[in-house]
Amino acid sequence: MTHHTLLEADFAPCATTDPEVFHDDDHADVAKGLCADCPLTAYCRAQARTNREWGTWGGETSDERAKAGHPPRGWHSRKKEAFRQARSSSARQKRPSASEQTRAAA
Ligand code: SF4
Repeated sequence: MTHHTLLEADFAPCATTDPEVFHDDDHADVAKGLCADCPLTAYCRAQARTNREWGTWGGETSDERAKAGHPPRGWHSRKKEAFRQARSSSARQKRPSASEQTRAAA
């Protein structure tokens, strides 16, 4: 099931909203507000958990679904990669350059 499928239920608030609002957790506050007024909330949330969807469904974000024991497909590998990149970026920022090391030694 995708948001597109539910968009066919033209009474659902997401039917008249930019789908991007539902695709990532960055717009979760807006999506959750729309889902709160939707008659499909319980069904939508259950389907998203079963189908391991990404995005906001039935007022529940990817992160909230993962915490409830229903992680989206590929959740763990994507989280590991994000952690690895953050750690690598942080390590690069903290490491002094060769010229900084030379200046410090002088
Ligand atoms: S609960 Fe939210 S995502 Fe699901 S059909 Fe309703 S408005 Fe769309």
